[in-house]
Amino acid sequence: MGADSFMMLVVLAVILSPFLPIVLKSKCPVCNKRKLEHLETVNMQEADKKEFVTLYRCHNCKSDFERVRSGPLQLVEPEGDTLSAEQVPA
Ligand SMILES: [Zn+2]
Repeated sequence: MGADSFMMLVVLAVILSPFLPIVLKSKCPVCNKRKLEHLETVNMQEADKKEFVTLYRCHNCKSDFERVRSGPLQLVEPEGDTLSAEQVPA
């Protein structure tokens, strides 16, 4: 393999690396299985600041998670009936 084709691989890896988290499922912090599915990214707008919250669900233990911007995964505790009224039907 020549230097040119090696450089091509390096460039390709750099281009593709941001997409890897989408291809590879994330590890669930609760059960440690790679069953975490990206559900959606919500644009939460509060006053004058924008927050992007990404929602995940584990297909193994059915836990829900949210990630604010690029912060750590946070477990979303199942809420009672008070919150369900605000949920938009899929
Ligand atoms: Zn899990």
